[in-house]
Amino acid sequence: MEQKHQYRGLTKQEVEESRQLHGENILTPPEKASLWSQFLEKFDDPIIKILLVAWILSMIIAGVHCWGPEAKGFTAFLEPIGIFFAIMLASCVGFFFEMKANKAFDILNTVNDDTLVKAIRDGNICQISKKEVVVGDIIVLETGEEVPADGSLLEAISLQINESTLTGEPIISKTTNEADFDHEATYPSNVVMRGTTVVDGHGIMKVEKVGDATGYGKVYEGSQIESGVETPLQTQLAGLAKVISKAGYSIAALTFIALLAKLLLSSSGMPVMDLIAHILNIFMVAVTLIVVSVPEGLPMSVTLSLALSMNRMLKTNNLVRKMHACETMGATTVICTDKTGTLTQNQMQVHQTNFYNLKGQKLEDNEISNLIKEGISVNSTAYLDFSDNDKVKTLGNPTEAALLLWLNSQQQNYLDLRENAAVIEQLTFSTERKYMATVVKSPLLNKTILYVKGAPEIVLANCQRVATDGTFKPVEDCKANIETQLLNYQNQAMRTLGFAYQVLDDKQETSVFANGKLHNANLTFLGIVAISDPVRSDVPAAVQSCLNAGIDVKIVTGDTPGTAKEIGRQIGTWQTNDTEHNIITGPNFEALSDDEALNRVLDLKIMCRARPTDKQRLVQLLQQKGAVVAVTGDGTNDAPALKAAQVGLSMGDGTSVAKEASDITILDNSFGSITRAVMWGRSLYRNIQKFLLFQLTINVAACLIVLLGSLLGTESPLTITQMLWVNLIMDTFAAGALASLPPNEKVMQDKPRKSGKGGDFIITRSMAYNIFGVGISFVIILIGLLLYFHAEDGLTPHDLSWFFSFFVMLQFWNMFNAKAFMEGTSAFANLKESKSFLFVALIIVIGQYLIVTFGGKMFSVIPLSWKDWAIIIGSSSFVLWIGEACRFIQSLLKKK
Ligand code: ATP
Repeated sequence: MEQKHQYRGLTKQEVEESRQLHGENILTPPEKASLWSQFLEKFDDPIIKILLVAWILSMIIAGVHCWGPEAKGFTAFLEPIGIFFAIMLASCVGFFFEMKANKAFDILNTVNDDTLVKAIRDGNICQISKKEVVVGDIIVLETGEEVPADGSLLEAISLQINESTLTGEPIISKTTNEADFDHEATYPSNVVMRGTTVVDGHGIMKVEKVGDATGYGKVYEGSQIESGVETPLQTQLAGLAKVISKAGYSIAALTFIALLAKLLLSSSGMPVMDLIAHILNIFMVAVTLIVVSVPEGLPMSVTLSLALSMNRMLKTNNLVRKMHACETMGATTVICTDKTGTLTQNQMQVHQTNFYNLKGQKLEDNEISNLIKEGISVNSTAYLDFSDNDKVKTLGNPTEAALLLWLNSQQQNYLDLRENAAVIEQLTFSTERKYMATVVKSPLLNKTILYVKGAPEIVLANCQRVATDGTFKPVEDCKANIETQLLNYQNQAMRTLGFAYQVLDDKQETSVFANGKLHNANLTFLGIVAISDPVRSDVPAAVQSCLNAGIDVKIVTGDTPGTAKEIGRQIGTWQTNDTEHNIITGPNFEALSDDEALNRVLDLKIMCRARPTDKQRLVQLLQQKGAVVAVTGDGTNDAPALKAAQVGLSMGDGTSVAKEASDITILDNSFGSITRAVMWGRSLYRNIQKFLLFQLTINVAACLIVLLGSLLGTESPLTITQMLWVNLIMDTFAAGALASLPPNEKVMQDKPRKSGKGGDFIITRSMAYNIFGVGISFVIILIGLLLYFHAEDGLTPHDLSWFFSFFVMLQFWNMFNAKAFMEGTSAFANLKESKSFLFVALIIVIGQYLIVTFGGKMFSVIPLSWKDWAIIIGSSSFVLWIGEACRFIQSLLKKK
């Protein structure tokens, strides 16, 4: 049945014209620092500065060599040029990855423009994204929503707006009634502004300004993603980086002293210029050691991992708003989840109506029928969208929309009924109240009527009588019967609603509501409605996966114990041996003392008839018990609980207040996406561990080699330019490769890591053994190789090129070991999904070949034969084969 709204709104063509004339509803982000200045920032790093100083000194020495008595010519400049390129390359690659991360953040920031708003266009109510709103549009505003543009109100019912983003005022009453205007207010009482939120009530506005022209556009400062805030993991890593740096500086100082002493002992008769050049060279070795050992790529790798994860999580319906949430999700031990929409499909359908005065389910032409159809139409904030001819879509509160759909199926036009009745006062539905009430001047009954619908026991508590079988009976006479009916529906996981009304006289008209509640109401109960909302098909498996991962799943719902238990049973959290100890109602929970509640929180599986304050207390008590809590919320009043939890998860169709308070928005509302967020969080942590494992192994090996090499031989076996290349591989390339490894479902078979004070350190014991074991083995092999070359015929350029390539290839194969670390599978598993990893691996091999073949004096190398390469690659690969063998044995032991 086509139903037209009293407002026509813009036609398609008018929308286009308005967009041409006034522009789109998009805010231009403030100009960012230019690419150049972002690039120059890279040189702010103290290590790069030391390197630059060293580079200048080496240029001077090269100049002396070039024109001095030895007159080496331009070849003397090759090493400084090499150093310069290495510095540039290191900063460019770092810069590139940073750009990539920034791009990911930019994408996340634009998602906000896609939030849906309700608009009336062509006489129909429909949903459009915020950025599509144009001047002249008619927008329907509801509790919890953000005002999408500036405009004036056409209608306002109990409308209260939070203007704190603009004026600092948290609650401002808005009205269209000139007599009630507040002339002191910053913005006129009939004007609403973009960026403010509806705290209570609802209204209809006409858009007057969009995009940058809005008041908010003028003060807009850009990105809302807090990309600058350090996450706990980053703090932990920064501490680690400091310790490693100190060790690096100490080793560098030791090397410098050792080499200097050696030089001074053997320098008698050396020309002063040569002596200075040698000292400078020793200084450069020490500086390079610092460069190699200081893990300056670590913070970058974490930011990159976070940015990549955030971007990929967006593809699996998780919009991360605060960076830390990515990693904290992986440490979660308890998830407190809503029921409606998260566990269920939120596709509500009236299963059965039970109005006691109606025969069957048909609405007949009598007074009770009129009360029912007018009550459902008027005491509601939902809409039906008829713009699609095939299917009627619903907008707004799903419970109310289900009732409108039912009315529509009874051939009743809800919009006519709603628009003909004048609303005098209204209490919209809230989880605290658990009912909705509206006072209207009814044209159908020619009286002023109070309509109430809500949780049956609460509505019934305000009723004196029940309209049944053509008469009115006292509530006491019918109560037992009604409760049996309710329980029957609830045991089938249905939500139940009670309906009631009261005819008001003039005095009661304004006094029946007080303090946001019904006051001295004397209602007549009309009946109940059972609404079905099936469990989402993917939820039982997702819940099971969380349970396997050692994460407790608790249902926190506003619904009844019966409904909640049945849903719990269907998703697999409520078992047959569970007792009343595992379930509690909100009011009973409130009555418990903190001590009593603390004793029970971990065992609770369901909290029903919960209010937002109960949810918040539950979260806080669980945290006191040491749990890392993720909590879902969609309502404005969930904001405190969302903020209190370590990870607040808001729902895609939740209010913008809830979204703002949350750390992640689950765009498709589904519990399945929450499970995926846990998997991502854990994978991210693991990828960083892999990177650390790889980097620290090179650190140990490179530092010891240079230290021991310079003590044993006359010069460092790895030259400065060679070490800078090694540094580039491990700091930047490997960070990119390992940070972008795909998530692994297997992480969901482990127990959650311990976080917070006294929690697990990111470098586990097995990692430490691995780092030192492998690092020292590398050193022994490499020193052995050096001694072998030395014993043969001294260290020739060929030997040093061989040594350099062998060193890099050892790290190359070890990167595959790092990839497989803790996975319990071969390093060759899921190579298809690890494209970035393979790409980086390829760059390392090709880069090494090009350097050795064409690097010449710049890298102090000479080209190697194919036979040499085959031997180097083949012999160094034993690192991987040994790793594979260890993993195979481990998996066999595990199976046993
Ligand atoms: P969850 O908190 O898990 O989403 P829920 O949606 O069932 O669960 P509430 O929204 O707090 O929880 O609803 C609690 C009760 O309030 C419902 O069982 C129902 O009886 C009643 N109710 C729900 N929506 C409305 C509404 N729009 N108008 C009146 N009563 C409602």
